[in-house]
Amino acid sequence: MFTAHLINDPFSDPGVYVKFKYRNEAILFDLGDIHHLPSRKILKIKYIFVSHTHMDHFIGFDHLLRVCLGRDRHITLFGPPGFIKNVESKIGAYTWNLVENYTNDLVLKVVEVQKEVKITRHYNCQGAFKPEAINTSEAFDGTLIDRPAFSVRGVFLDHKIPSLAFSLEEKNHINVKKNALIEMGLPTGKWLAELKSSVIRGDPDNTPIKVEEKKQGNRMVERTIPLCVLKDKVIKITEGQKISYVADAIYSTDNARKIIELSRSSDTMFIEAPFLDEDIERASEKYHLTAKQAGSLAREAGVKNITIYHFSPKYKGCGDVLTEEAMKAFKG
Ligand SMILES: [Zn+2]
Repeated sequence: MFTAHLINDPFSDPGVYVKFKYRNEAILFDLGDIHHLPSRKILKIKYIFVSHTHMDHFIGFDHLLRVCLGRDRHITLFGPPGFIKNVESKIGAYTWNLVENYTNDLVLKVVEVQKEVKITRHYNCQGAFKPEAINTSEAFDGTLIDRPAFSVRGVFLDHKIPSLAFSLEEKNHINVKKNALIEMGLPTGKWLAELKSSVIRGDPDNTPIKVEEKKQGNRMVERTIPLCVLKDKVIKITEGQKISYVADAIYSTDNARKIIELSRSSDTMFIEAPFLDEDIERASEKYHLTAKQAGSLAREAGVKNITIYHFSPKYKGCGDVLTEEAMKAFKG
């Protein structure tokens, strides 16, 4: 379970902060101005996904470094082609002659995402942020990270430069109903982990699940119960949440297809909507979406909720018209 919110008002720099409910870590999509985030929230960030390095999406790097410097933190940053050079230019703007004496170490893992490959390079504070001599690279098939509890995917959109859009998908939660165990006279124990794995693997319903129970005198008694019975009575599956984050992109058939595919059935879709549809020419000149286009894409993707952001200053004082236009297209 997680919560996600824009870090600034929709006229300011883009960025979405995601906080996991049961783990002390957070994710950030885009790294624009993050001064509104309290330091305690910045210190929870473990992964940062940067769509592209236009200033309003990346200027927060300095503040991030300022807050995290001198702390034992490990942060992984993902970004588009050229990202390693962008990060190194930022780091290279400062003098790091005294940091080797720091007792705590800040480690940055920078992953540059290219069309078919992810290139990773590490930097650490005690090493004066000198890049590791060796880069590692692995194939990129759309998945940026895949962890037991969640995964993040990325897709390249056209913004005259590559702009990454992201989706964060939590995996289903599988809970054991303790009351049901008692009612069925079943013990707790290691077999429950095997039961959960069997459900995750999608094993056939008639799969026998071994239930081991220690009886009097340490005597082990084993019995088997079909998976379908346990799934029906003991297991509760809660569907994981999904959010998608679509930043700067022009409206094109190719972008539309990729956006819809990536964000399909999201609980919330964060999507940029800088212009009204009456200013569609300006939007496409600047390689951005209109509010109407954003709303239609969300509708086609079948998302449950939509949050628009990245409003052009042109509409200062009347941002509601962008929201109204997007919602009208979203609701159809
Ligand atoms: Zn941009």
